Amino acid sequence: MSNKDDKFKKLISHCKEYGFVFQSSEVYDGLAAVYDYGPNGVELKNNIKKYWWQSMVHMHENIVGIDSAIFMHPKVWKASGHVDAFNDPLIDNKDSKKRYRADQLIEGYCEKIENKIKKDVTKAKKRFGDDFDEQQFRSTNGRIIDRQKKIDAILTRMNDSLTKEDLGDVKALIEELEIACPESGSKNWTDVRQFNLMFSTQLGTIAGEEGKLYLRPETAQGIFVNFLNVQKTARQKIPFGIAQIGKAFRNEIVARQFIFRMKEFEQMEMQFFIRPGTEMEWYKHWKETRLKWHLALGHPAEKLRFHDHEKLAHYANAATDIEFEFPFGFREIEGIHSRTNFDLSQHQELSGRKLQYFDPELNESYVPYVLETSIGCDRMFLATVGHALQEEVVPDADGKDSTRTVLKLHPALAPVKCAVLPLVKNKEELTAKARKVHDKIKMAFNCQYDEKDAIGRRYRRQDAIGTPYCVTVDFETLENDTVTLRERDSLEQIRIPIDEIESRVAHNVSMQRLFIDEKE
Ligand code: ATP
Repeated sequence: MSNKDDKFKKLISHCKEYGFVFQSSEVYDGLAAVYDYGPNGVELKNNIKKYWWQSMVHMHENIVGIDSAIFMHPKVWKASGHVDAFNDPLIDNKDSKKRYRADQLIEGYCEKIENKIKKDVTKAKKRFGDDFDEQQFRSTNGRIIDRQKKIDAILTRMNDSLTKEDLGDVKALIEELEIACPESGSKNWTDVRQFNLMFSTQLGTIAGEEGKLYLRPETAQGIFVNFLNVQKTARQKIPFGIAQIGKAFRNEIVARQFIFRMKEFEQMEMQFFIRPGTEMEWYKHWKETRLKWHLALGHPAEKLRFHDHEKLAHYANAATDIEFEFPFGFREIEGIHSRTNFDLSQHQELSGRKLQYFDPELNESYVPYVLETSIGCDRMFLATVGHALQEEVVPDADGKDSTRTVLKLHPALAPVKCAVLPLVKNKEELTAKARKVHDKIKMAFNCQYDEKDAIGRRYRRQDAIGTPYCVTVDFETLENDTVTLRERDSLEQIRIPIDEIESRVAHNVSMQRLFIDEKE
């Protein structure tokens, strides 16, 4: 098993052991690609959503929020193109009966070649030391050039065939590359066919096709169809945005990617309505703004990158992904799309209602253009926990070295901000005092009272869930109303009066810090 696989497995088991993420319906052996968030997970997820919401809605006078329903009129999905074109190319292995996305099988093949390139680069780096120029090495080493050419040729052919809907050629490519089923090793494949990703259900009152409803595959359409309601009631002028956080559903065919790709997930989307012709300005603006949002959390710049799309969706005239380096490589975490006036025009046409804005400065009406930012809350959760989870050697209570597992979450995102711990459990005066301290500070931020096990073990437990501060109530507290305040990362312990806990902790765990960092 590679180091990366090992790290990913540890991350998944940590999420389970400490109440962050559970497999859905685990007692029935689980439901594939569906997950539940536990007591610490829901706190962290809520904090991620709060950071996004406040940063988008509260920090911008011209962005307002909505919460639209999951069910929408079926024509919405006809207009948006999802009924006809929201498909994945699927292929089944006849022997193992396993189903795969044909494009992912081919991309996986290319990733293996890319890993070989990376191996050569790492070796060369070691050999040449500080003088190593990776760019130059990649562009001059014969073996790497050949491998890169092979990857480019495969991906170009696949993309061309998918665009032309030539699914026969996608199958031919899989066969030519001799790609085998990852489960069984068999190369006995069915034809490739398109599979619509929307889940459908049926209205009780209307039988047949007429009563067919879809679970929304994105939250954006709820924003589009409410565009005029919101613009008028919130008295907004273009440029302005509408933000929404909510569940989305896609019938994804996936294996073993934990919460990266789920059938039921949550999106945080913002549609920014602009004058036609200004979209490139806003595209640049939102690319920069969104990257700063990620960086403010302390995620290092080298783990984030843009991947500009060369092949654009039919409705877009520019698009990029913000990719994050997950334990299994760089993958999309957020999309920034210039969607032109496609969606509003489509809804205008199919509904027969005008979805136009009268621009008082230009003295004319038009269908606005839209710049979208769309981030998956669950992918953000995975990126955050994956980056924060660390093992480090630190001195234990006796001064000896020991390894601790610590979640170095940004304090504003941490599920619990401060734990209150009586030094020992069976001294009534201590536990009563600690309870009093807990009752006082729990009104300011999320706190946890814990008296079980030795103090060292309790510290480790808090480290493992990312609690930035621990307050310990000891015998001296009974004499002079002071406690020790332990900081998670520096392990520094200082003695402070009980009355100061709130002011010392509050600022450091507040979202305010993130907004200030975002601006810089
Ligand atoms: P991918 O190419 O990975 O399937 P996408 O391009 O289809 O993603 P979008 O439709 O742009 O994704 O959705 C916006 C965001 O929603 C993505 O950046 C991602 O963070 C999140 N997202 C999309 N599909 C899923 C899913 N199945 N599970 C979890 N998050 C998802």
